[in-house]
Amino acid sequence: MDLTWSADEQAFRAEARAWLETNVPPAGLASGDTREGFARHLEWERALFDARWAVVSWPQAYGGRDASLWEWLIFEEEYSRAGAPQRVTQNGIFLLAPTLFEFGTPGQRDRFLPTMASGEETWCQGWSEPDAGSDLAAISSRAVRDELAGGWRLSGQKTWTTRGAFCTHLFGLYRTDSDAERHRGLTYFLVPLDTPGVTVRGFGRLDGDEGFADVFCDDVFVPDDLVLGEVDQGWKVAMATTGSERGLTLRSPGRFLATTSRLVELARERGAADPLVRQRIAQGQIDAEAYQLQTLATVTKLSAGEHPGAESSLTKVFWSELDVQLHETALGLAGHDAELEDSPWMKGWQFALSGPIYAGTNEIQRNVIAERVLGLPRK
Ligand SMILES: Cc1cc2nc3c(=O)[nH]c(=O)nc-3n(C[C@H](O)[C@H](O)[C@H](O)COP(=O)(O)OP(=O)(O)OC[C@H]3O[C@@H](n4cnc5c(N)ncnc54)[C@H](O)[C@@H]3O)c2cc1C
Repeated sequence: MDLTWSADEQAFRAEARAWLETNVPPAGLASGDTREGFARHLEWERALFDARWAVVSWPQAYGGRDASLWEWLIFEEEYSRAGAPQRVTQNGIFLLAPTLFEFGTPGQRDRFLPTMASGEETWCQGWSEPDAGSDLAAISSRAVRDELAGGWRLSGQKTWTTRGAFCTHLFGLYRTDSDAERHRGLTYFLVPLDTPGVTVRGFGRLDGDEGFADVFCDDVFVPDDLVLGEVDQGWKVAMATTGSERGLTLRSPGRFLATTSRLVELARERGAADPLVRQRIAQGQIDAEAYQLQTLATVTKLSAGEHPGAESSLTKVFWSELDVQLHETALGLAGHDAELEDSPWMKGWQFALSGPIYAGTNEIQRNVIAERVLGLPRK
């Protein structure tokens, strides 16, 4: 693997850095998991889109720059380095979009990608239900065929839907064949949340933000052209989305490299002399760089047309545990100051604690690694 950046890639980095240095809001924005903060974040994302930085690796026709995945990684590094706001459009651009590119019809791509890139339409993820989280195939939300109208009627409840109360659309799984074996008979739907019969009820998180929602469907009509992939093959389509979430796009290494740089700055400010603390900081830096190298290897595989598959579970366990470790080290350094309400380290730590839960819990990822990567027998 050649780890040197080409002249074009370096020029791309310089252009991105210059734009971000001039345009990133200096004071930061209110949390994107509040209604007010979400609106501010969308304004910022609109500015990104207008300058064609919102979705760099997408085709130009959809607002991108036709950038390679390597360039996308460079952009992500620069984005985090500049301290730019977290993307509230992430469930669309990082999770649904790769799935639309793989399974969507040309009509679906033309219909949804441009408005997703500009932030005019925003997407939330409808997997979890009150009785189906880790065991996603146990979902009871269903879709019943309406032959006459040419579509499906959806019913059921989704929960823990991140930013569901602020988004315009949901992608999710619904059971279309109740007689089929568990992982079959599921279909992936794209649901506009203003469709009659949809009720969205926001609720608060433990950190005080209102970011979650329950999304209820009561006989909601969805036409055939809002089915993504084949009917009854939704599990396969959903696994492509979760692969993006665990593996590559949701948490790019730039995020952790930037966190380690801030940790080093904090250690300098506080004059960290304890050798054990210094060791933890060094370990964090090593792990962030190891994750960067692992990501480069993943991109190499993808560029060669391979799919990382179950290995994305290794990645997810690694980045989520690294995030907790980096924030715990920072809290130790910041001491009582970290308890001040507006401390970014405290807020970051609270969110890092949820990393081992969302995108499939780390216990479940370890089961996947044991069975599908290491080939150990199922218990
Ligand atoms: C910040 C955050 C954002 C989220 N956003 C979304 C979203 O946008 N959309 C969405 O659909 N969901 C979302 N979720 C929900 C998330 O996907 C679920 O919480 C997760 O899949 C676990 O499901 P559960 O909460 O029902 O826990 P359960 O499945 O009930 O699990 C409870 C505990 O049992 C363990 N466990 C369960 N089964 C096994 C097993 N077979 N082997 C070993 N251990 C097991 C789990 O690891 C966990 O520790 C979000 C969650 C968080 C924390």
